[in-house]
Amino acid sequence: KEELNIIQGALELRTKVVEEVLTPLGDCFMLRSDAVLDFATVSEILRSGYTRIPVYEGDQRHNIVDILFVKDLAFVDPDDCTPLLTVTRFYNRPLHCVFNDTRLDTVLEEFKKGKSHLAIVQRVNNEGEGDPFYEVMGIVTLEDIIEEIIKSEILDE
Ligand code: ADP
Repeated sequence: KEELNIIQGALELRTKVVEEVLTPLGDCFMLRSDAVLDFATVSEILRSGYTRIPVYEGDQRHNIVDILFVKDLAFVDPDDCTPLLTVTRFYNRPLHCVFNDTRLDTVLEEFKKGKSHLAIVQRVNNEGEGDPFYEVMGIVTLEDIIEEIIKSEILDE
């Protein structure tokens, strides 16, 4: 029975889209690009428990410009109060974007190629008067897709 569920979950990857499984932007733990990696900030990052943290510019959480990997902090001494930008510029992690209507099997293939297991989800916003524009909706990771296959939450360590 368990196996049947998993097979069904796997088949559903062809009909579900990213928008249905993403973590909305409002729930994302992120950092401002002008943050300083002092003791308070590093503690907050560690307390969040996430391994990858989107970095946004200005007051615009939509404006994601970088990803910080927590392992990038290995050589950072909080006493030095290093600007976050120094670290993100050094590692220069690539940003991957997918559209909200991308099918889960397509995203899984992308993730399998191994570049990054986290993608920024964007949509085309053509509501309102002005020109259509890209709008960030949230993030999706490999874990979100695996959860769709096994149809249950993966509890974090
Ligand atoms: P981690 O390795 O950081 O625990 P996972 O890739 O295992 O992240 O994803 C676990 C869940 O947490 C997924 O639902 C994913 O969308 C969400 N997630 C990942 N990074 C963040 C973040 N920085 N802020 C909020 N949610 C996140």
